[in-house]
Amino acid sequence: MTPEEFRRHGHAVVDWIADYWATLGQRPVTSADPPGTVAARLPAGPPELGEAFERILADLDTVLTPGLTHWQHPRFFGYFPANTSGPSVLGDLVGAGLGVQGMLWATGPACTEVETVMLDWLAELLDLPARFRSTGTGGGVIQDSASSATLVAVLAAVHRASRGRWRGEGLDRRYRVYTSSQGHSSIEKAARIAGLGDTGIRTVGVDPDTLAMDPAALRAALEADLAAGVVPAAVVATIGTTSTTAVDPLPAIGALCREYGVWLHVDAAYAGAAAVCPELRWSHAGLEHADSYCFDPHKWLLTGFDCDAFWVADRGELVEALTVMPEFLRNAATESGAVIDYRDWQVPLGRRFRALKLWFVLRWYGVEGLRAHIRSGVALAARFADRVRADNRFEVVAPHPFSLVCFRLRADDRTNAELLRRVNAGGRAFLTHTRVRDRFTLRLAVGSPYTREEDLAETWRLITGAVPDEPGGRA
Ligand code: PLP
Repeated sequence: MTPEEFRRHGHAVVDWIADYWATLGQRPVTSADPPGTVAARLPAGPPELGEAFERILADLDTVLTPGLTHWQHPRFFGYFPANTSGPSVLGDLVGAGLGVQGMLWATGPACTEVETVMLDWLAELLDLPARFRSTGTGGGVIQDSASSATLVAVLAAVHRASRGRWRGEGLDRRYRVYTSSQGHSSIEKAARIAGLGDTGIRTVGVDPDTLAMDPAALRAALEADLAAGVVPAAVVATIGTTSTTAVDPLPAIGALCREYGVWLHVDAAYAGAAAVCPELRWSHAGLEHADSYCFDPHKWLLTGFDCDAFWVADRGELVEALTVMPEFLRNAATESGAVIDYRDWQVPLGRRFRALKLWFVLRWYGVEGLRAHIRSGVALAARFADRVRADNRFEVVAPHPFSLVCFRLRADDRTNAELLRRVNAGGRAFLTHTRVRDRFTLRLAVGSPYTREEDLAETWRLITGAVPDEPGGRA
């Protein structure tokens, strides 16, 4: 494809995306097609000769979009949001066009330096503790996902807890990672990949009302393990748990981590974005105790997947845990010690220019634009929760400090599951579920920049209209 052909077809692709966004609300949120439908629409193998670009583009409408779940849809309320936005897509496009590999400072100085500055900008935007800024001992890096951030934090924590032996002889003792019973499954995966085994994770009990980690239970777990010869390596606390957005009490957890010399990683994958608003920063109180912290701009901050922002308080410790220096990567800039080589801050070697989309997003929206986006989600969720509370057939089952509302019919699990099935089957809105206090619970997470009050009003009409006639046993 010549640059001129690229220009022409590129314009057509941008038009296609703009049309897609403009018509999203008229589409079903999810596909009703059975498994295999999209695959059956594709030829068995690649074409022998190259095809006209127009034909490729046409297939987006016939092959692709009918088989999609539309995550940017104004009535997509499932899981947590995965926002994207115009500036994010355009920043990604520039990054793709540049095709830079930023594994070392030397392989893409601008790629590294823009990323360092963007993570400092983000730290300022969220008012993160000074220890995470690159101007001190810390610094930030973009990981592909919160799962990778947690893995890297756990690896550095085990490195510290083993006094470096993890890098040398490997694991010499039993090490353990702690999180609440509401912690994300990626924490268990990280412990397993770090070589700690299935018993390398210990889940700690939560307060029955707030569903936040119980510090007394954490202390008891640390004491019991120490008595049994197990070395506590890391505590992973959560700001905004996946099920209900519970906020673990960081001040108390941080004090325990200090007392026991344990690495504290804070996973704020979804709710971290809320800290752009001063009135929501209470959720980050105590973060100054953390050794590492991450949140996903790709969830609720208008930046397309993949973009997890991860900070450490001591970058030297992280680099010491992960660095390897083969001859073919040796270069004068690295040896000068004056530059950051982000390959030492992550699992893969190669890395693309993801900071570009952040740069575009932060400049296009500005601080006030991003605050308006978060505030809109929080306000829409609060009004939805009011509707639920006003109908005595339903109950809100957990606090909703951000943009997620957890609710259920006052009926048995089977009836609630049937209600969710009916709502989603209509294709007009999409919600997911969880279990709260072991009861089937519907989750409605607001996050799309296209969502308006009328989308929530319609969704509430759909929900109330789908209530099974004869709900099963009452709760
Ligand atoms: N941590 C929490 C609290 C989450 O809610 C999620 C995903 O929803 C994750 C981690 C994993 O995020 P990612 O897909 O970025 O790995």
